[in-house]
Amino acid sequence: METKMTETEKLQRHAFELAAAFSIRLLLMEELPPEEAGAIVHPDGKRRGVVARLITDETSYVVVLHEMGHHLSPWGMLRGPLRVMPPTEASSATDRLRWIRLMVEEEMAAWDWAKHYALYWTAAMQQVHDYAYGTYLKEEARIADLVKLQEPPRNWKPKPAASLDDLVRSMGRK
Ligand SMILES: [Zn+2]
Repeated sequence: METKMTETEKLQRHAFELAAAFSIRLLLMEELPPEEAGAIVHPDGKRRGVVARLITDETSYVVVLHEMGHHLSPWGMLRGPLRVMPPTEASSATDRLRWIRLMVEEEMAAWDWAKHYALYWTAAMQQVHDYAYGTYLKEEARIADLVKLQEPPRNWKPKPAASLDDLVRSMGRK
């Protein structure tokens, strides 16, 4: 006799089918906070994995798909391939903004991937998206404000260079 799969079992099976189809290893743990989920690349640069909480409902399901999206969307991982260094204490606001904007792009791409491949998209899944994506947007806005503060004052008038030579010469001057 065939037993009917529960909805959670369908989601679990789908996530594992996707992972197998795209050669992604899933490590799903019982007690993992959602913010500790992640897409992991083996030091060999080829093997790929996802660490996330066990799939017990549609929200934990969509987190797994989102992390897979980081691997599988062309824009899902940008900072590594572009060799952008993570900001340090000494980094300028502009460097921080570059970093967070790339993160926002990665997030958007991973969510788009998840939305495309999910069996369906529910209000609860959208809530996870809105919350998670929102934290990145907030941080981006905060850092963008810092960069604005560094803009030159309104009455600042740069002296135009007369020629390329003139411009290069003026750049050497302090
Ligand atoms: Zn993400």
